[in-house]
Amino acid sequence: MAGPLYSLLTQNVEFEWTPTCEEAFSKLKGALTQALVLKGPNWSLSFHIHTDASDFSIGAVLGQKQGVLENAIYYINKNLQGHELNYTEFDITIIDKPGKANVVVDFLSRIQTQDSPGAIDDSFPDEHLFSINVNILWYVDIANYLAANNIPPYFSLKERRLLVEKSFNFSWIVDCLFYTRLYQVMRRCVSEDETYDILHSSHDKPCGGHFAAKRTTLKILTIGYYWPTLHKDAVKYTRKCDRCQ
Ligand SMILES: [Zn+2]
Repeated sequence: MAGPLYSLLTQNVEFEWTPTCEEAFSKLKGALTQALVLKGPNWSLSFHIHTDASDFSIGAVLGQKQGVLENAIYYINKNLQGHELNYTEFDITIIDKPGKANVVVDFLSRIQTQDSPGAIDDSFPDEHLFSINVNILWYVDIANYLAANNIPPYFSLKERRLLVEKSFNFSWIVDCLFYTRLYQVMRRCVSEDETYDILHSSHDKPCGGHFAAKRTTLKILTIGYYWPTLHKDAVKYTRKCDRCQ
């Protein structure tokens, strides 16, 4: 739309206000004044990126769908010059997830699901094989649902319903997932990697006191941590504790 106006700004071009420029100016003025052009982002919704290209310019719009309407949040536009005019034009749609969703979704954690059948090339010679230890966070789906309203597309209806029901017991606050069911107290959901240190501090350390599994579990819940296998892990931990034998 603004092409004729941009061409006036190019170096070594004589400024000539043609009827085409006048028409472009009127169209642009109309587009900018008729409706609210940009809206602030809503971090709980998905972002969409729309791109478009003509022979002379490229543009991209960052948008979000709120209800039935798609609102623009930010846009960029660039007139192509010189060698840029030789760029090949692609017609693509990029579907991306909000940053918060990516905090917990790991590409590797999905690599062996039915999402990517046959995507793993096992023909590498041995020296190129790496041992990849993939730990899927137990709360990844809950966090994605609460942070970004994102449910794995391969979930069945029943799995979707269960996830939504389960999520009632959790809250996503400032990039952290909290378990809020027990006595309405907020307890941070911890990953498997953190559980050993928490058990160790709550059982062995001076403030631990080598209590039995049930009391150690309650202690951890009181401090404000939660994971689903907490009690089971506390039983295992206390059984292995030399001083408790
Ligand atoms: Zn002990």
